[in-house]
Amino acid sequence: MERILASQLLQHVDKTVRLRGWLNNLRPLGKLNFLILRDRTGLVQVVISDKQELQKILHLAPGTVLTVTGKVSASSQAELGVEVVSPTIDVEVAINNPPPIEYYKPEIPSQLEFILDHRAMSLRNRELQAIFKIQAALVHAYRLFMVNEVGAVEYFAPNLIGASSEGGAEFFSVDYFGYQATLAQSSQLYKQIMVGVNERVFALMPFFRAEPSHTTRHLTEGKQFEFEMGFFDHWHEVLDVQERCIKLMIQYVKEHCQEELKTLKTPFVSAPMDVAIPRLTFKEAQEIFFQRTGIDERNEPDLSPAAERELCTYAQEKFGCDLVFVIDWLASKRPFYAYPKEDNSELTNTFDLLCAGTEITSGGQRRHTYESMLEGIKLKEMDPQDFEDYLSIFKYGMPPHGGFGMGLERLTMTLLRLKNIRETSLFPSDTKRIASSRIKAKLFFGSESVRNEIIRKLRDNEMEYRHLSHDPTPTSEDSARVRGTKLEEGIKSLILKGKSTKKNYQFNVPSHLKIDMKAVQELTGEKCEFESPDVILECFGLNVGGVPPFGDLLRLETFFDEQIKLLNQVAFNCGMPTESIIMKGQDLITLVQPKFGSFSKN
Ligand code: ATP
Ligand code: MN
Repeated sequence: MERILASQLLQHVDKTVRLRGWLNNLRPLGKLNFLILRDRTGLVQVVISDKQELQKILHLAPGTVLTVTGKVSASSQAELGVEVVSPTIDVEVAINNPPPIEYYKPEIPSQLEFILDHRAMSLRNRELQAIFKIQAALVHAYRLFMVNEVGAVEYFAPNLIGASSEGGAEFFSVDYFGYQATLAQSSQLYKQIMVGVNERVFALMPFFRAEPSHTTRHLTEGKQFEFEMGFFDHWHEVLDVQERCIKLMIQYVKEHCQEELKTLKTPFVSAPMDVAIPRLTFKEAQEIFFQRTGIDERNEPDLSPAAERELCTYAQEKFGCDLVFVIDWLASKRPFYAYPKEDNSELTNTFDLLCAGTEITSGGQRRHTYESMLEGIKLKEMDPQDFEDYLSIFKYGMPPHGGFGMGLERLTMTLLRLKNIRETSLFPSDTKRIASSRIKAKLFFGSESVRNEIIRKLRDNEMEYRHLSHDPTPTSEDSARVRGTKLEEGIKSLILKGKSTKKNYQFNVPSHLKIDMKAVQELTGEKCEFESPDVILECFGLNVGGVPPFGDLLRLETFFDEQIKLLNQVAFNCGMPTESIIMKGQDLITLVQPKFGSFSKN
């Protein structure tokens, strides 16, 4: 029998159908038992009255993969208007353990951080699924519009690039065969190059921004709808494209994602087709914010988040539209390539589009002659030499052109009125996470970064310590002497290597004792040997004599000998053989959180 989907059930009333999907949840009520089956189109209610059928799944957990064959019956209670009765159930993949997060509830009863910690599972939740189906629809609508109405050609620009196109510190650098490369912040350069080829171009580009702040509207990796066009009579034609684009995207989602919008319950943003999105100059925008709130930001070079929110409220109240353009921004706040206004070079032909309180797009006209571009670079006190490739296109003929960049996640967030942009990225990266996983431990490399981190930790925790500089000390006895501490208070930190796993471990013993390799073998489950000094220098940037008992900073599994617990005071080299730290034994244990074992001998 052919597989039928949840969405098709209404067309099969009174017929027997075969469904496949996941056990979402089970409500065993005794006589009548409700199995909710999930497939890619929705949730089906299956009513089980046969005890034997129920027994097959009673002990199984959400996620169990099932085939259910049964009769479709009209039901006013069931969400779909139909349910499946008298089922025969086949368990395809049995799952016995409940998942770590209750994704199968209509709304996950957890905080966003926990939801992100269990991202792979939480995405199975219907509300989350709806967000990302709508996001996919937005992308599809954008492509349809760009190809069918604008006649633009899609381009695919590199994400791994050499020098940065705009300067600034918000770049991630990557090691590229020993050279430094950067992850692209936008495809500005490439889309302008492509205007010289195809006049009208668009893309959905990944972007990377090293935004150190943890806000509700910034990610470090996201996607941007990019657009650029050449040959207009007035630069406002770029705004015309943006306006029609966003209206059609909103309309497309309203038409094609009714189920998803219903699931999310939030009132969708409105941008009526027959209402022009207001276009305020930056100056007018500041004035309106002042008139409406009494807060005077009229001398500020930028709009505050509060002003952005107020302007959208204004547009909604006055025009019934949640979007508003702000145009003619100050040159000081726009990139070097922004086109200066003919009658006032302090202003630029640029715009932002605000949606439901937040910026979603920046764009505008670009400088298009070589001379003008040079001028723009110099005005920002940057070096034209750094922009040679970019400048070459202007040397050899670019028409008047302009475009915009609109954040996909920002757009999804504002359209659906979500509170946090992380909700709109499948696997968000930010200051605390990479691809939704928590950044576990920072890896520290080199003696100075290790020492600085140890001292930072001591200070942050307000612990007492002394930090000494001294001549290199070849033996533990020398160390004790220059530090003025007892021999047994010194900590010897050894980096070992497992012979079978090749994994490095750190073992720490009081200086007057030796390490017992047999005990080490018992603890690690493998034979270990001393790691070679060359490897230690290469992998951790440390000389053997400077390794501190902070194996956690080097991401090593770290063991302390039980004897260390008995020490009131400890002393060790903090990354280099010429510097030591003296601190309380208990504080060291608190900071490092090592594993303990007995692996020392005389
Ligand atoms: P903001 O001022 O909000 O930090 P921006 O002005 O620096 O953004 P632009 O360079 O104008 O950003 O980028 C164009 C669009 O890309 C923005 O309007 C926004 O929709 C999106 N965007 C930019 N940076 C981020 C980010 N860190 N996370 C998510 N979206 C972003
Ligand atoms: Mn911007």
